[in-house]
Amino acid sequence: MADPERPTRGRRADSREVVELRAVRELHPELADAVDMHLELLEMQRRVQGRVPLPSFELNADVMARHEAEARPILRFEDIPLDPTDLRLLVRQTADVLRRFGALDEADYQKAQTLGRDMNLLAMAGEWYRSGAEHHAVAAVSVSRVSAGSPKEEATMAAQVLGLAMRPFLSRCAEVLQQQSYLSLWTHQHCPLCGGEPDLSVITPAAERHLICSRCTLRWKFEALTCPYCRNSDRSQITSFATPDGQYRVYACDVCHRYLKAYDGRRATRPVMPVVDSVATLPLDAAAMQRGYS
Ligand SMILES: [Zn+2]
Ligand SMILES: [Zn+2]
Repeated sequence: MADPERPTRGRRADSREVVELRAVRELHPELADAVDMHLELLEMQRRVQGRVPLPSFELNADVMARHEAEARPILRFEDIPLDPTDLRLLVRQTADVLRRFGALDEADYQKAQTLGRDMNLLAMAGEWYRSGAEHHAVAAVSVSRVSAGSPKEEATMAAQVLGLAMRPFLSRCAEVLQQQSYLSLWTHQHCPLCGGEPDLSVITPAAERHLICSRCTLRWKFEALTCPYCRNSDRSQITSFATPDGQYRVYACDVCHRYLKAYDGRRATRPVMPVVDSVATLPLDAAAMQRGYS
């Protein structure tokens, strides 16, 4: 708490992500709302992330090998360095930002505020965390209305808000695992750390594909042409298309009809940045959905 660096943090030079997001807005004025919303979410998350302590879960090559054999993610909910006060704050602030940009309607906003004050928030976050692999796409919340109504839609609202609010805690944990060489032992399509689904990927200069977790943003290597949702590996059943500049690709599966976007790092001037690249590829999402993929 007594970090002497902290008071100046907000005024420090803008992060690389902020600079890149502004560049996206410059190039694609039609994405201005999405960019502005994510700039606010980033700033909010950054303030909290600076004070999240390093997690202390057990991590070594043996642990990784054991979890790999059982396809079981490493991080238990109990081991996330979660501060309940910060989580409550993030839930309410996330709801504020989403509503301001029209991504939450009034009814859902009120529910999210209630969630942020609920003494059971931690239990609900635990439930959300454990049911992880089913939830998808919290990295780029498109600016579209999430309507209230059925329990499923309500669960989607909670998942969306919780996914964004949990991000600072989970990405702190991901930082620790990301640096370990034994991460390469993991061969499954869900995140080795938190069990989340990938919702973006990056093609490395060595032409490997690394999946990026939608919840904690950990990156791990996965077969380049296998669908990470149903493991279909028949190339004739994978449809692939790129943006005109070749910077991004979509791999769509004609078996399960889901798709995954990729940032092509072979022709890039910067590393992949999940938030930036998710926003920059919102038009690609529209194109994939138009073709019947989800
Ligand atoms: Zn993850
Ligand atoms: Zn598939």
